[in-house]
Amino acid sequence: MHVLIVEDEITLASEVRNYLEKEGFSCEEAHTGKIASDKLFSNEYDLLLLDLGLPDYDGIDLLKESIANNSNTAVIILSARSALEDRIKGLNVGADDYLPKPFSLLELKSRIMAVMRRKHGIRVNIILINGLGIDLDKRIVSVSGNIVSLTRKEYDILSFLILNKNRVVTRLQISEHIWGDIIEENYNSNYIDVHIKNLRKKLAEYIEGDFLETVRGIGFQFIEINPVQS
Ligand code: CA
Repeated sequence: MHVLIVEDEITLASEVRNYLEKEGFSCEEAHTGKIASDKLFSNEYDLLLLDLGLPDYDGIDLLKESIANNSNTAVIILSARSALEDRIKGLNVGADDYLPKPFSLLELKSRIMAVMRRKHGIRVNIILINGLGIDLDKRIVSVSGNIVSLTRKEYDILSFLILNKNRVVTRLQISEHIWGDIIEENYNSNYIDVHIKNLRKKLAEYIEGDFLETVRGIGFQFIEINPVQS
């Protein structure tokens, strides 16, 4: 999951980044509104953590820009406890949640997971699909209680495809979700295909059926097999 942290307090920004990276997120920081605005324009993020009190920019304007550029980006506002009006305004403009400062990193992660669940229409952190169990919190994939040993990137790709099940996900979307800032050759090269190939091989040791479909020239799709038929 690709996160943009917009925060002018550099220590706080890097503290959040270090924590989230340890939890398996891929993060970028923007310490000014201008940099954040440029990044929102050129990249696609799953989540924006937005400090409203920026020296050079109205955070609400940044929120509007984010929604205009990519309405799929979830937004959590991080702001001073006193700035109640700003938070209400933020929620009204389209933020998904807010967290008053100071906040605990554990609570931040819970809020992020909750926002992402709502975004994907799921209620719990564990998804059961096609005989696979995906624990989004622990980042574990299992089949009948046996843990499938996946690399970090394999897990990221699989969970991303599952959260977007029955929809074609492009190579560019996968790249942006997993690697963040990328150069063009990255997603054109076949290294996503290599990860997919390894994923198929590992899953095949535990479970039958190829539900990771390659859509030629575009990307990949995770097909949900109708539970009634299985
Ligand atoms: Ca600030």
